[in-house]
Amino acid sequence: MRAAGRGYGGMTARQFVREAQGGLDLREFYSEFFSRLHALQQDYRLLVTMAEQAAWDALPASRPGPLRGLPFSVKDNICTQGIQSTAGSRILEGYIPPFDATAVARTKHAGGILVGKTQMDEFGFGTFSTNSGYGVPKNPLDPSRSCGGSSGGAAGLVRALDLPHVAMAESTGGSISCPAAFCGVVGLTPTYGLVSRWGLIDYANSLDKIGVLARSVDDCALLLEQMEGFDTKDSTSLKRARTKDYRQELDLRKVKIGLPKEYFQGVDAGIARTVQGAVDALEREGAKVQEVSLPHTKYALAAYYVIATAEASTNLAKYCGMRYGQTLPLEGKFNEFFSRVRTRYFGDEAKRRIILGTFARMAGYRDQLYLKAFQARTLVIRDFERAFKQVDVLAAPTMPLLAPKFSEIASLTPVEHYQMDILTVAPNLAGIPQLSLPCGELQGLPVGLHLLADHLNESALLGVGRAWERLTRPVEEG
Ligand code: GLN
Repeated sequence: MRAAGRGYGGMTARQFVREAQGGLDLREFYSEFFSRLHALQQDYRLLVTMAEQAAWDALPASRPGPLRGLPFSVKDNICTQGIQSTAGSRILEGYIPPFDATAVARTKHAGGILVGKTQMDEFGFGTFSTNSGYGVPKNPLDPSRSCGGSSGGAAGLVRALDLPHVAMAESTGGSISCPAAFCGVVGLTPTYGLVSRWGLIDYANSLDKIGVLARSVDDCALLLEQMEGFDTKDSTSLKRARTKDYRQELDLRKVKIGLPKEYFQGVDAGIARTVQGAVDALEREGAKVQEVSLPHTKYALAAYYVIATAEASTNLAKYCGMRYGQTLPLEGKFNEFFSRVRTRYFGDEAKRRIILGTFARMAGYRDQLYLKAFQARTLVIRDFERAFKQVDVLAAPTMPLLAPKFSEIASLTPVEHYQMDILTVAPNLAGIPQLSLPCGELQGLPVGLHLLADHLNESALLGVGRAWERLTRPVEEG
């Protein structure tokens, strides 16, 4: 039964699942859900593919598990059986995987219902979702602005859809946190290796992580509990018992929060003030706050773009018109054929990154660029190791700017575009978990508070996140 006197909109994912287990009419719910989804798609273009028929087909078999009947969307670079998976690239148009990624399979097994594939920058290459081959998703808070990227469609959908739903997304260098901040939703990027990458269309294998965008910390925890855990199909997946309990709120009096001073430099002054205000509120609740330094932050952006493009350029080699997605008539020598397919179907940013990454890996430049970037990455990791000897979590702004207008993005050079990732790339180089939480508004636009923790300390992040939510917007949970 639907909760008395309240629509689905006010329900947390856990409440919805409980009602679904108790016999809620899922057909009625999904009629409402898809009529809403069609309307949103018209207005904001948040999906590459809608999976309406697949959802209806899955309903009768929806398992009575911990996600029973819960709608979930999947970023389009995560493979879904029988549903087109393009990673936002025209070169993969028409590619229908014959399998589910492990994270998707686990979510379905727990009873989740796949509702669609969300918009993204091509292969994850971008910060504003403007590099998609399938149209640009618009921010539901102001359609003249970006949702952020590269998981822009996922965050926009969470924001726009006033119905229970969780979004499975992916981050390489900030693609969950950035759109979470721009759309005013919660974004959880877990520790590298916690969620299997099997079935993810790789951007940069040493950085990619599957995570969650949702309306609350608890909604994120609910999906993570199902997705995480060792997978024999991913050699980088961590061997660890499955399903930790992520439901504890932390007693803030026992929490030490570090403010990395480098993360407040060059940030919009209003954003820095808003984030500082949030940290002050946590301090008033008893958290101990101290300044810390991450002195190698200044090398993180360059190291990230060398490593990420080097890995991306090798990953993209397989898209040549022979195996997946688009092709052209077989004419000329094989390399001419490959070049024609790639020239035609890769977007400009993918081409730029193939060139950058190939250059960085070339004999002669490898020592100067690729190996240097690895050294810088080690220094960045050591900064975090030192910081987490002093504090439990780090707190910083998620992004240095508010969700920009498309007209502003159009005037950025590629390097200026990359510079927008300045606050998110270092934690991703280190593979540590991150949680972006809405912490206020400026000019009617949301500001993101970025919490970082040591490897596998998701429970500290979520515990502080829950405490923050209780202070700001009490969420009824079950
Ligand atoms: N904006 C970053 C990039 O373009 C991060 C993208 C991502 O995390 N997929 O590489």
